[in-house]
Amino acid sequence: MAKEEKKQRDPDITFFHPDLLEVPEDCSSPFLKGYRCKSCGQLDFPNLNPCPNCWGEEFEIVPLSRRGKLYSYADIFIGQPGLQTPYIIGYVDLPENLRIFAMLDGEVGSFQCGEEVELTVGEIRKNRDGLPILSYKFKKVNG
Ligand SMILES: [Zn+2]
Repeated sequence: MAKEEKKQRDPDITFFHPDLLEVPEDCSSPFLKGYRCKSCGQLDFPNLNPCPNCWGEEFEIVPLSRRGKLYSYADIFIGQPGLQTPYIIGYVDLPENLRIFAMLDGEVGSFQCGEEVELTVGEIRKNRDGLPILSYKFKKVNG
């Protein structure tokens, strides 16, 4: 009997990253969750526990800016297993002096370093049952 057949199948659910992304139920705009250390004030994304600056273990959640500047990006034609190519990844610099790694929502070849992008929510991949897994992405501000 093949090994795969014996392996127990976990229930597969479609999910956000609730520790990273807040999608308010009142339909206001989603935001990324910054974590500010209650001892020294350092702001990080994602949460680093303990705080790399002071080893503090208490944090307050701070909504991060929804817009930032595209620092760098790459169009991916040979991707990770399970990801449909092409897709785009990039680093976005937020005004809070945080650099966020994210997938970009848009056309391959259409992004430029330094341009303004904004937070959006979209499909980052499909799960085993072919359902979309949603999480944060960034898209062009104009388009
Ligand atoms: Zn700290």
